Amino acid sequence: LLELHQVSYRYGRSPVLRDFDMTLDVGDRCLMLGPSGSGKSTLINLVCGFLKPDSGTIDIAGQRISEGSEAARDAVRRRHISVVFQSLRLVSALDIKANLSLAARLARREVTPRDIHALLEEMGIAGKAHAKPYMLSQGEAQRAALARALVVKPDLLIADEPTSALDARNAETVARLLLDLSHTHGTTLLVATHDERLRSHFSQVIDLHAGVVEQIV
Ligand code: ATP
Ligand code: MG
Repeated sequence: LLELHQVSYRYGRSPVLRDFDMTLDVGDRCLMLGPSGSGKSTLINLVCGFLKPDSGTIDIAGQRISEGSEAARDAVRRRHISVVFQSLRLVSALDIKANLSLAARLARREVTPRDIHALLEEMGIAGKAHAKPYMLSQGEAQRAALARALVVKPDLLIADEPTSALDARNAETVARLLLDLSHTHGTTLLVATHDERLRSHFSQVIDLHAGVVEQIV
């Protein structure tokens, strides 16, 4: 589903990723562990086609997202990928229901109000459908962002630091929720974090240090 081949990226003179290789098959659930500044978010931006690598290739479902116009890369991303960003990026002027329907519209997916309700129910926040993002707790907002990511039925779900703002118990809950959802929705999962607590939940772990893979378990 996702194939990175010899990907290198630098900001100005500082190299972040060097000759990075990575493969995710359909159904994989992968944890990318690395300290702050090791290049996790950069890698996510590359996989999403927001950034273009200096060299190397990135393919998603056989489509090259590392080349071409911005519009072409956007189209590949919209067809295949959803991201839960660390800052969540819910639209603050819209209620949760409208955040989900907007995401569906942007991805050109047919989604009924019933679908949205079912998804919010599954996340345990059906009561928050008409709430604005500022009315939600951090944990609820996280679930809302996750619901928005899933409403477009992505092939690949990426979560950037989904647990770093949470205490141990909530971090555990979110890790389980992500894994359970990837099973029930048939979504391939990539979680990027510096949170070592998550290691035990994943059978596939990539250790990222200064843009280089140290170990693949
Ligand atoms: P964290 O765990 O803190 O989120 P990260 O692993 O996601 O860290 P990145 O955000 O990918 O790390 O950053 C990797 C390196 O690239 C850092 O040294 C950072 O300062 C640098 N960097 C990131 N974005 C930019 C940018 N837009 N311009 C210049 N340097 C950048
Ligand atoms: Mg980051």
